[in-house]
Amino acid sequence: MRFPLALTAKIARHIIKHKLRRTPRFALVLQLEPLHTCNLTCTGCGRIREYSTSLKDMMTLEDCLTSAQECEAPMVSICGGEPLIYPEIEELVRGLLGQGRIVYICTNGVFMRRKLKDYLAGSYSRSLEPTLAKLLAEKLISEKDAETIRKGKSDGRPTIKPTKWLYWNIHVDGLENTHDLIVEREGVFKECVEAVRMAKILGYQVATNTTVYRETDVREIEQMFEFFSALEVDGHTISPGYDYDAAKRDMAGRLGRKPEDFFLTRAMTREKFAKIQEWGERFTIFGTPVYHEFLAGKRELTCTAWAIPTRNIKGWKAPCYLMTDGHYAGYQEMLDRADWEKYGVVDGVIRDPRCENCMVHCGYDPSGALGTNYQRGDNWKNIKYNFGSRPKPCLNGHKVNAFNGFSIGKEHLSETKAASSNRNAPKAMFQHEGNNGNDGDLCGNGDSARRDELPVKIRDANKIRANQSGASLP
Ligand code: SF4
Ligand code: SF4
Repeated sequence: MRFPLALTAKIARHIIKHKLRRTPRFALVLQLEPLHTCNLTCTGCGRIREYSTSLKDMMTLEDCLTSAQECEAPMVSICGGEPLIYPEIEELVRGLLGQGRIVYICTNGVFMRRKLKDYLAGSYSRSLEPTLAKLLAEKLISEKDAETIRKGKSDGRPTIKPTKWLYWNIHVDGLENTHDLIVEREGVFKECVEAVRMAKILGYQVATNTTVYRETDVREIEQMFEFFSALEVDGHTISPGYDYDAAKRDMAGRLGRKPEDFFLTRAMTREKFAKIQEWGERFTIFGTPVYHEFLAGKRELTCTAWAIPTRNIKGWKAPCYLMTDGHYAGYQEMLDRADWEKYGVVDGVIRDPRCENCMVHCGYDPSGALGTNYQRGDNWKNIKYNFGSRPKPCLNGHKVNAFNGFSIGKEHLSETKAASSNRNAPKAMFQHEGNNGNDGDLCGNGDSARRDELPVKIRDANKIRANQSGASLP
């Protein structure tokens, strides 16, 4: 099966229960943002801009757990910011799993191996020695790490353990060169790959999470799927980038750039996602085939943003993950008070100009599961897709030239670094360990100065690569 049976059954039961009760609106996935602090400053990220004045604030553990109970979503996606910076992330994961939720930890991957080592230390016994030997042989941990793991853990805190109810969901927007450009830090792609490999050895479920931008080369995305499929990741989430409020204001006001220079319009999205159904056959793409048809421009859907609510330090964010017209104290209060009829695009009619180009998963993926624009055969399509067998790992993935930047000493961010230092960009807030020797020098603090050049750089890099190799990717 593309998605484990127990998890699919849990979500199906939740939908059927609310359909029988005729609940008009209910939550499928809670996007929980315990904090907005991040160690990166990715191009196109609206979070660290919109919440730049509250980056140091965070939700209490109790608030996080109560929010999940309040909206009763069967799945909780812990995002942010970078959730692994949240000081009680282990307790949060344990609490959500204890409530019977399916948990996704949406991470940029930089701190992930640290958490995996912590798990090993917390569960160390001599029987783990073969695993340590394998991790050492694959250079995923050092001898010093192994020694620390053997000493065990004495802080009394829980660790994040592998279970079928948990996924690591790692942000990857392309192969090494592109991804490091987008996250504005060399070495992040490499670290993500090492985290994926280590997590798979330890028996975790791992997914990748990709945003497609205007400059994204879809052939590269296909190669990226091949590469991660060969590493036996358990699934992929993919969604179009969109000119949501905070990013749009930033681009237009501060940078004097048009949003359409960077983000996708609907027509562009349909072009980029033309092969999504074919990808769904070759790779374990999460989501419903109905949503995939929508992305490919084969049908319309109505936005159901209330089904993937966002809860953060300011409350329940309406109408959606992207736009903010208000924060509410409770989920039900948000459902009751937000005017849901004024959002989205319905039958080609734009209800809110800000929704015009939006086709993002947090607005439309649930529409495919909830049958809001039901067409005959949709249920069967969804069942066949999710209960169908999982595509086999892509053998060609090992041949993909994924390490085409930092790993080959390309220093593809050197110009960006220079631009940043010329502007006297503020120093990093978070210093942390990595495996690339340049720890902390590009960590983020919400300052977006370095993002200015990125859209242009990505476009230029793509042009140079296309000229160098004809039509083929590096
Ligand atoms: S990893 Fe990037 S996209 Fe995610 S919160 Fe941090 S800056 Fe934003
Ligand atoms: S269409 Fe829905 S998800 Fe997209 S911006 Fe509008 S309200 Fe948000």
